[in-house]
Amino acid sequence: MTSGENTALNDFLNLASDYLKDGHARVHKAIEPEEKASLPLAYMVEEEIDGSEEINEGAAIEENRIGENRDGDSLEAVSADVGMCKACVLAATRKNTVPGEGSIHPLVMVIGEGPGADEDAAGRPFVGRAGQLLDKMLESIGLIRGKNCYIANMVKCRPPGNRDPGAEEISACYHFLERQITLLKPALILCAGRVATQNLLQTSKGINALRGQFLEFKMGEFKFPVLPTFHPSAILRDETLKRPAWEDLKLLRSRLAEMNLLLE
Ligand code: URA
Ligand code: SF4
Repeated sequence: MTSGENTALNDFLNLASDYLKDGHARVHKAIEPEEKASLPLAYMVEEEIDGSEEINEGAAIEENRIGENRDGDSLEAVSADVGMCKACVLAATRKNTVPGEGSIHPLVMVIGEGPGADEDAAGRPFVGRAGQLLDKMLESIGLIRGKNCYIANMVKCRPPGNRDPGAEEISACYHFLERQITLLKPALILCAGRVATQNLLQTSKGINALRGQFLEFKMGEFKFPVLPTFHPSAILRDETLKRPAWEDLKLLRSRLAEMNLLLE
C-alpha cells in the first residue's frame, strides 16, 4: 500500500468509526483529490467492457453545451419531469422529488436505492449520514460529487419509513434512470447496496456475491461496467464492511486508471 493509499484508507476507516461511535463525523485531515480525476469525458464502451474494442468518444460531441443530447433531452428536462411525476404511490408521501445531481460528464455514476428523510427534505440525493460517508468514500479515490460524479437513485421519491422501494415503484421510475444514463454516459457505474444492484442488473443474487467485481449493465445497444458495493448505510451499521468496501473502491480506481481516466 502506498502512503497516499494508507492516508486515504485511514481517513475512510476513521470516518466510518466516528459515525459508528458518535453518530457524527469528527474532522480528519482532508485528502487531496487527485487532480487527474477530473478528466471530463463521457466514454461509452460499445463492444467490450475491457476497452480492447472500439471506444466511442463521440458521445460527448453529440451534446451541446447545456447537456442536451441529439433527441433534445437534457438532465434538466428529466428533473422537471420527475418533479411532476405521480406514476407511483411514493408521490403521495414525498416532500420533494430527488432526481439526482452532479457532473454532466461523470467518470462515475453512483446509483442508490432511494431517498431517505434527509434527501426527501432537501430534494438532493445522499445528503444524510450515509451521503456524507459516500462523499468520503469517493474522495478517498479522488472522486468528487459535482465535479466528476453523478449521484442518483433507483426511485426518485422517498419510500415512507425508509422501507425498500417495491418492484412496482422501481419499474414505474426506471425510465427516468434510463434517460439519465443515456445523457450522462458514465465511464463506470457504482451501485450502492443490494436493492439497487439487484434491480439494475436484474438478478436475485445477494450483495456479498455481487460486490467486488465489475459486472455489465446493458441498456439498448450500450454496455456499462457496474461495480456493486455495500450501501454506505450498511457500512455505518456494520464496521466489518469497511475493509471490503475499501477494496471495492480500490478496484474502481484501478479500472479508471486502466481507462486512462484516473492516473495514479
Ligand atoms: N440512501 C440511498 O440509497 N439514497 C439516498 O439518496 C440516500 C440514502
Ligand atoms: Fe414518479 Fe419515480 Fe416518484 Fe414514483 S418514485 S412518483 S415513478 S418519480
